[in-house]
Amino acid sequence: MNHEQSRTLYDRALSVFPDGVNSSVRAVRPYPFFVERGDGAHVIDADGNRYIDYVMGYGPLLLGHTLPESVGAAIQSAASDGPMYGAPTEVGVELGEFITRNVASVEMLRFVNSGTEATSSAVRLARGYTDRDTIVMIDGGYHGAQPSTLVDGSPDGSKPSSPGIPDAFAEHTIPVPFNDEEAIRTVLSERGDEIAAVIVEPILGNAGIVEPVDEYHQALRELCDDAGALLIFDEVITGFRVGGLQCAQGKFGVEPDLTTFGKVIGGGFPVGAIGGRAEILQEFTPAGEVFQSGTFSGHPVTMAAGLATLEYAAENDVYSHINALGEQLRSGIRDIIADRAPEYTVVGTDSMFKTIFTRANTAAQSGECDDGCVQDKACPRYGGCPKTAADVANAETDRWERLFWPAMKEEGVFFTVNQFESQFISNAHTAADIEDTLEAYKAFFG
Ligand SMILES: *Cc1c(COP(=O)(O)O)cnc(C)c1O
Repeated sequence: MNHEQSRTLYDRALSVFPDGVNSSVRAVRPYPFFVERGDGAHVIDADGNRYIDYVMGYGPLLLGHTLPESVGAAIQSAASDGPMYGAPTEVGVELGEFITRNVASVEMLRFVNSGTEATSSAVRLARGYTDRDTIVMIDGGYHGAQPSTLVDGSPDGSKPSSPGIPDAFAEHTIPVPFNDEEAIRTVLSERGDEIAAVIVEPILGNAGIVEPVDEYHQALRELCDDAGALLIFDEVITGFRVGGLQCAQGKFGVEPDLTTFGKVIGGGFPVGAIGGRAEILQEFTPAGEVFQSGTFSGHPVTMAAGLATLEYAAENDVYSHINALGEQLRSGIRDIIADRAPEYTVVGTDSMFKTIFTRANTAAQSGECDDGCVQDKACPRYGGCPKTAADVANAETDRWERLFWPAMKEEGVFFTVNQFESQFISNAHTAADIEDTLEAYKAFFG
């Protein structure tokens, strides 16, 4: 593959952007390819190379790059009416109604402009509503670039995970390992009356993909109720991706108090939302006292794109298509690595997938999860498969970045650049794309 144009563009980008990029995961070494355009499930780079795209904008592109007519027309029409107004629009109400109709726990919501904004507003709302300062998060969970959750550690001690965040933030954040009911039970029994909220991704989507063990979320729900703390589901990735229109909370049968959304609900445009019980949402200004505001919030082009995307998904079997392709891909990868690299673990559900390059997990393949680890206690590999973000960080993360990612790129498959970020199937992918991708896996694993 020729990458001359991308190299030249990166040379220019390095002069204007730190590390040449606007979001840190994009800074691939030695340099990223620059995308010229999308085409269905593919992207074409500045040198004309074509890739099957499983990055899908890191999650938002449920329908792929070529939008169905109805979606494209809704976006064009909203944009040609004028960019934005600083006043409410009908299309925003319609998207709000769509979400409250489909997600059982969401009675009301407020739109913002990114997942980061959604989680930081949700944390502030939970603190304001409960009049408590401390939050519990999952160690290695990702809730965007906000100081209250850029925190590492354990209940024995936490610290900011980035310079620029005062230690005082970490003092009010208690990280616990995912899937460890005992750890969170202990925290809530000792310090429950300080805890405003527990914030958790229903499935870890930015640390490999790690599914909850049976009854984990039910336990969180009960523990929060006992402590008077709010349960916040960060569904920025899983919302309208996992569990279809009811989202991951519907799939797991748990009703959080607050839910954060982003990614898919903007149909490819910048978006976020905080939803939940009306009584809590009413605490946002101006109805209540917890300050919340945003120039671009409820942006009419985003609202039109999100609404048209979700309506298309509701009317066209999108979830059955992408979830079936997910099964085909995950079980295909499972068969390939069972032969050639049995220590690795296939993970993911619905239209999300990843292969975690676990180091030691070579027990017999028979009886293991068919198409991605679901933390099945009866599986012979249950004891060894990743249950926490730390387990994923212990995998062969360099092998992914240095060997696997570049090799797949050369085979024409665009994956997320590190071991941690999820990958996504869109409605534009076909069974033939999946077959081609499995051939690339075979070529890599030899
Ligand atoms: C992507 C993501 C965020 C941050 O969203 P941005 O739009 O990038 O700010 C927050 N939480 C989760 C679970 C995410 O996957």
